[in-house]
Amino acid sequence: MVAIKAPRGVRDILPDESWKWAYVLEVASEVADLFGYREVHLPIFEDTALFARGIGDTTDVVEKEMYTFTDRSGRSLTLRPEATASMVRCYLEHGMQREKQPAKLWCSGPMFRYERPQKGRYRQFWQLDFEAIGVQDPMVDVEIVALSLELFRRLGLSNLEVMVNSVGCPRCRPTYREELKAYLAPHLDELCDSCRARFDRNPLRILDCKEEGCIEITQGAPDVVEHLCEECRSHFDQFLNGLEAIGASYRLNKRLVRGLDYYTKTAFEVTSGKLGAQNAVCGGGRYDHLAEAIGGSFTPGVGFAAGIERVILSMEEEGASFGERPSIDAFVVTAEASARPKAVSFLHELRRNGLRCDMDYAGKGMRSQLKAASSSGARFACILGSEELSRGAVAVKDLSSGKQQEFPLEKAAERIKAVLKEQAGG
Ligand code: AMP
Repeated sequence: MVAIKAPRGVRDILPDESWKWAYVLEVASEVADLFGYREVHLPIFEDTALFARGIGDTTDVVEKEMYTFTDRSGRSLTLRPEATASMVRCYLEHGMQREKQPAKLWCSGPMFRYERPQKGRYRQFWQLDFEAIGVQDPMVDVEIVALSLELFRRLGLSNLEVMVNSVGCPRCRPTYREELKAYLAPHLDELCDSCRARFDRNPLRILDCKEEGCIEITQGAPDVVEHLCEECRSHFDQFLNGLEAIGASYRLNKRLVRGLDYYTKTAFEVTSGKLGAQNAVCGGGRYDHLAEAIGGSFTPGVGFAAGIERVILSMEEEGASFGERPSIDAFVVTAEASARPKAVSFLHELRRNGLRCDMDYAGKGMRSQLKAASSSGARFACILGSEELSRGAVAVKDLSSGKQQEFPLEKAAERIKAVLKEQAGG
């Protein structure tokens, strides 16, 4: 029988990497606090209708990428492909419109999309998601961009570019849509298959097609920003002024239409110069009509999602720090097997005192235990030899200097902590 492996596009995050994830999540939580965003934990699956209506059923995500299944009661459920629709559902379901507005919320967790896997693109990937729901003020759009930039700054990313656009609203977009179609119509035969299919259903998406031919054709396409209604134009101007006020440099990108239908007005993306084809570290924008699409009343909102895998890849490429890699303080070694019960109680005592420690459970000889102590990264080896034990003591060897000292067993934890504190201070 062939051993079962993880499905294609899905990865295990092993200990060599998971501590980097913990660091990114810790920094995200600090930045959330700094900006007043409160954390929520959302379900991994939702009613399929939430995404079909919220994201839009002509989008790639809904048409081709969702993991949809029927549960035992015959209900259609979907593993969440993104978090914004769930966040807005959560806001509506819990009557958050009655609280202080905007409701500023964040969450993190895995998302699922049936995409073609490649570097930086997976079928299960993690996002950090920040949303400000309930107000239309363009300064909130500025805050969202500022939050993403502060997050990336704290994570040590510098090789970044902010791209912005406005995709208009249901009032001005239809006119633009028709102009775009009129421009594209004579080139219909030259577009790729997907874009030909998008022409009637979702022509704006043709603007962000990555096919060479389509890029060339859309080069001279009408610019959405030039077709904005007064309200969208004013919102966009205030948003850009706000970005300038916080000293954020940005590039206008008329191709930036984003993959999800719910965007209105502001669209933005942050890309890393250190990533290859999949270079977006975060993307977001405003979604003033998403709540109505899922059965709520008019509720504006703006937010962004950052892909944790991509953030970590960019940090690695830039040589950014992930903080201190967790290691242990002490490794308990026994000279005789008969000392193992003593070792277990000593280990327990050290841990109760807050020292991170471990011992060998594989029945190794003393020499191998000492080797294991070194490779564990421990600072000290605490050797319980029969002679030391007869004196009620333990030999504590500093594995970096090789220096060995003897401490009374009951004082050992305190002494080790004192040495660690002294060294950390020095
Ligand atoms: P989106 O929800 O499509 O706006 O994506 C927001 C961010 O999530 C992107 O900028 C990426 O960082 C990340 N992301 C989206 N799709 C994937 C994927 N399939 N694999 C890894 N990261 C992804």
